[in-house]
Amino acid sequence: EAKHRGKSTSVVYTDAMGARIGSEADLIRELAQAIESDQFSLVYQPIVRLDDMALTGVEALIRWNHPSRGLVSPIEFIPIAERTGQIVAIGAWALREACRQAADWRREFPSALNLTIGVNVAGRQLRTPGFADEVRGVLERTQLPAACLSIEVTETAVLDDEESHEAMLALRGLGVKLALDDFGTAASSLGLLLTCPVTTLKLDRSFVESITTVGRQSAVATAVSQMAHALEFSSVAEGIETDEQRELIQSLGYEYGQGYLFSRPLPPELMADLWAAAPRPARASAAAGR
Ligand code: C2E
Ligand code: MG
Ligand code: MG
Ligand code: MG
Repeated sequence: EAKHRGKSTSVVYTDAMGARIGSEADLIRELAQAIESDQFSLVYQPIVRLDDMALTGVEALIRWNHPSRGLVSPIEFIPIAERTGQIVAIGAWALREACRQAADWRREFPSALNLTIGVNVAGRQLRTPGFADEVRGVLERTQLPAACLSIEVTETAVLDDEESHEAMLALRGLGVKLALDDFGTAASSLGLLLTCPVTTLKLDRSFVESITTVGRQSAVATAVSQMAHALEFSSVAEGIETDEQRELIQSLGYEYGQGYLFSRPLPPELMADLWAAAPRPARASAAAGR
């Protein structure tokens, strides 16, 4: 895979459709332009509470609208931006924009008052000195309550390094939620998990995908749910595409679900239509989707 070949400029990247999107050197140069000329946007994927299907939150997912190549997937450019450090600027933009949008929705729609907005943060961004201060500043400026923000980090990015740990503690100190994304894919030890100040485990899509057919996958899904309950973390299963998967995931004790069965990621206007149609939350904000 191209992304494992380091800084070689001879590697040609292809997008999800297999179309040629150019060399890494091209991408790095174009990413710099993209940051300057505002070529990024966010789409929002609903997260629902499984026991009553209430819309409790969204995850913000970045899109790069390239002037000639069209939409470039984050899977293509985030790993490169992490290597070059461009992720710090891109991630800062995504955080500001997601919080601004969430605060607007809360003002406009009663159904959105207790929403949780998930924002993906790369390891390198989390470890940038002052990251928690940046988050505090964004919350202040946008007037988004800290409890409405969930920072999503991957296990591999954070588990056993001191700087990440400090940053996570600082974030928890602000009152934001912290989710371990793609959970189950890395070989992290239970001991590390015990010291990790997270609030939420997000089961990786790969375990949901084959949950109905492969026994081992459902064993992981079961173990992660039990771990979440034992450690009093909230649990989200991502990538739910079928009713059968939803039923199984719910029977395993997952509180929240995300996936194409409920909705694809949506541009802000379409997401606003969902908030407009959703009932005012009947339950206290403590239970809002994480
Ligand atoms: P993720 O954080 O695990 O996000 C979930 C991904 O699964 C999204 O892909 C979403 O569109 C996709 N997905 C959701 N439900 C389903 C489903 O039912 N079936 C299938 N097949 N896929 C589903 P997306 O938007 O392409 O994002 C890919 C990854 O890029 C994200 O994975 C995240 O790691 C990264 N990413 C996206 N936005 C940002 C960002 O603002 N900052 C950083 N650092 N990373 C981001
Ligand atoms: Mg995520
Ligand atoms: Mg995920
Ligand atoms: Mg994932």
